Amino acid sequence: MPFSDIVGHAKQLESLRWALEKERLHHAYLFLGPEGVGKKAVARSLAMAIQCREQDYDFCGGCADCVRIQSGNHPDVRFVGPLVGKKEITIQQVRELERELNYRAFTGRKKIVVVDPASLMNYPAQNAILKTLEEPPKNSLLILISTNTGGLLPTLASRCLRLSFAPLPPEIVANFLVTQKKAAPEEAEILAAVSMGSLGKAISQEMGELVQKRKVWAERIHSLTPQDCRGWMKLAEDLAGEREESLKFLEWVETWYRDILIYCVTGNSRGLSNLELEENIKQQADKNGRERVLFLLSQAVLTAATIRRNVNRRMALENFFAHMVGVH
Ligand SMILES: [Zn+2]
Repeated sequence: MPFSDIVGHAKQLESLRWALEKERLHHAYLFLGPEGVGKKAVARSLAMAIQCREQDYDFCGGCADCVRIQSGNHPDVRFVGPLVGKKEITIQQVRELERELNYRAFTGRKKIVVVDPASLMNYPAQNAILKTLEEPPKNSLLILISTNTGGLLPTLASRCLRLSFAPLPPEIVANFLVTQKKAAPEEAEILAAVSMGSLGKAISQEMGELVQKRKVWAERIHSLTPQDCRGWMKLAEDLAGEREESLKFLEWVETWYRDILIYCVTGNSRGLSNLELEENIKQQADKNGRERVLFLLSQAVLTAATIRRNVNRRMALENFFAHMVGVH
């Protein structure tokens, strides 16, 4: 399972491979990019390429070192995240990893630590790791993984070499689902669109369920009329039962209105995330103008925000549907 088997991110892999070959690897990297696009897989692959006994500047996936890295049991490669039941990565964890980085590698190669997600390090932990970065131990490699730089100290982010990971193109995700997961091509195309370039999401079971759900949601929304107030009140009641369900629905509605907006502007279905609902989206685009779609999109965002603040869900959703059908 060499580098060439990794899905997407050709440029990032090329630059890491080049640095590895020329012994130009930096001592600290910051991998940035959306959830589920493969940042951790690349970090793991780089660790394997450094430690693999069978291949130079690449990895076999089958030797003792590769296997131990994949199972998280390699003495020179440590993955650090919040401890079970905790929300943060603490200064104690950072001190421990600093100690590790200072030891000599068992393999005689590098000591590697991957922190994921790095934004969950609390500030004392970030300050501590900053000190390590000021004087990095010899033959050590630190990889911080994060979706954005928001939760990171600017001084910390600036001491790492940044590598950005973009969402994968839908055709790459779809191709992976067909060839590796034996998905039917139509299903793969839909899942790739729903997952918005995240392979991790595309293969999650939740995603398959979401595809089913949104079909039902789209049909119910489509059948709502201003006259039938019972219809939208019932829908609000059904969704309000569970907080998570209400939020999932609203998150989906945001993608739905975004798609309608794309259709209003471009007149075609390129880039839609609700690909299988194209006909429905087209009808909505014809029925509502751009401004109205933008307004409803903002209402969906607002409604989700109020529900997160624990406002009465049923009331918030009823209000939203009243806007949707044009009652107020
Ligand atoms: Zn190997």
